[in-house]
Amino acid sequence: MKRWLFFCFSLLLASANAQDFETVFERSGGTQSVTYQQLIKYYHELDEQYATIRMAEAGETDTYYPLHVVYYSNDAGFDIAEWKAKNKLIILINNGIHPGEPDGIDASMMLLRDAAQGKIKVPDNVVLAVIPVFNIGGMLNRGSHSRANQNGPLEYGFRGNAQNLDLNRDFMKMDAKETQSLVSLFRSLDPDIFIDNHVSDGADYQHVMTLLTTQYDKLGGVMGKYLKENLEPSVYREMKKKDYDLVPYVNHWGHTPEQGWLAFHEGPRFASGFAALYHTFSFVSETHMLKPFKQRVEATYTMMSSFIRIAGADGAEIQKTRARQKAAYMKQSAIPIAWVSDSSSHSTITFKGYESGFKPSDISGKPRLYYDKEKPYTKQITYYDHYKASQTVAAPRAYYVPRGWGRVVERLKVNNVMMQEVQSDTLMQLGVYIIAGYETSPRPYEGHYLHSKVRVKYEKQFVKLYKGDYIVSLNQPSARYLVEVLEPTAPDAFFAWGFFDAILQQKEYFSDYVFEDEGARLLQADKALQQKLNEQKSADAKFAEDGEAQLDFVYKNSPYYEPVHMRYPVFRLD
Ligand SMILES: [Zn+2]
Repeated sequence: MKRWLFFCFSLLLASANAQDFETVFERSGGTQSVTYQQLIKYYHELDEQYATIRMAEAGETDTYYPLHVVYYSNDAGFDIAEWKAKNKLIILINNGIHPGEPDGIDASMMLLRDAAQGKIKVPDNVVLAVIPVFNIGGMLNRGSHSRANQNGPLEYGFRGNAQNLDLNRDFMKMDAKETQSLVSLFRSLDPDIFIDNHVSDGADYQHVMTLLTTQYDKLGGVMGKYLKENLEPSVYREMKKKDYDLVPYVNHWGHTPEQGWLAFHEGPRFASGFAALYHTFSFVSETHMLKPFKQRVEATYTMMSSFIRIAGADGAEIQKTRARQKAAYMKQSAIPIAWVSDSSSHSTITFKGYESGFKPSDISGKPRLYYDKEKPYTKQITYYDHYKASQTVAAPRAYYVPRGWGRVVERLKVNNVMMQEVQSDTLMQLGVYIIAGYETSPRPYEGHYLHSKVRVKYEKQFVKLYKGDYIVSLNQPSARYLVEVLEPTAPDAFFAWGFFDAILQQKEYFSDYVFEDEGARLLQADKALQQKLNEQKSADAKFAEDGEAQLDFVYKNSPYYEPVHMRYPVFRLD
């Protein structure tokens, strides 16, 4: 009887807890992070309790579980088309892309609860879409050691997903199902602001949080200017009111921060860099792993609520700037696709660090770096925040993507790219890239042997197109994505990630003793070819002595050589 009474009492307590929606983080005094099961149960209950909260499934992941998204809307309306019609400003918040960095996961639970309970005011023109956890496989793989030196929580997830991929490098290649699901959700939301919550390591300093903002020049145009002059300063101001001194993400390696650092350049493989391809203002919040978990979660909460306030006040301006940028991009004839830092100008930031020095290592006896928390300093630091285009391409009117490249087509479809089908087999004169050279990483990177330093020749060729191949016009919202994923020299293009490797290998060849006779006949009949061979011989002494190389030269310049070898298989309509 007594036991039964105790059981009832426990149930009552449990439901009381559920009613006020205290989180694991709060109950533990800021020492623990929620588990995956607790997280999803919490949002289910929040959804049931409050009309302003809606949890939905958003597609598959590499685990058994679906990707979830939790929406918050003041008027309890959850129709995205209606949000667009009412000009609601959409903030998309991503958590747990690196589950070893769980601050955003716990902070978002409190944020959405407080919004639902009216403890923080979400302006009527703002709606929220929050990914409770993106990397579910990593969150399930819970432990206490993978983040060496991180100051809490007691347990947390692992960086790699169920395929051991770092999902924050997956947005162009999209190897993980959850990346495909998030990209698809992203495209239907077309968020105005994207926030990706992280925890960083590196140098020790006083700042609890740093903020990685999309590099202004890369974002470009009116958005780059608005970001630098308005939006980012507003975030810094809002955070300052709550006693958080923000500085840009401390992107220093191999030296201490007082020597200054380069603005981080997030290419489109990163979630925030990908978001920038769709003209979304993107931010990565980075709390510092040496600060206690409690402080970090509170900072992440404050940062997200700051964005909500700014979005409420400046929503119309933010949306207008995006619309102007989207329209301007369509009209741009020269499109930058690669960037390098421009050290000719810089900014100065007020950095609150700790003095550093070297002392003998207890392990090796060799000098080791240390930061002295007893010696804080405030210094003016040089911040190289400018980049310039290192490579520009002329915008084509359209790309032709042959249907056979299914993995490419699939990814374009996930991106909601508008495509038309070629109606019947045809021959068309189109712009063609010939791959003239490239380098390949000797070790795999995120499951791929990345190509870089890609060189191309561009020419017009008659190309066979078949019924069902795709015509992809650049006159669409995915224009910037298309250019950066389909131009073979772009650093994060499908070509770089190895999607077109099959063209790099010749399929047919010749028997040299037979082709000797045929080659001689060709030279006899084609004076221009003979001339070309002679020129090559006089230009290259080694070639002039190499019989095989000369035979190969004749073959490669003959109709026998297959045209698709080294020919990039996506064509351009200029
Ligand atoms: Zn991270």
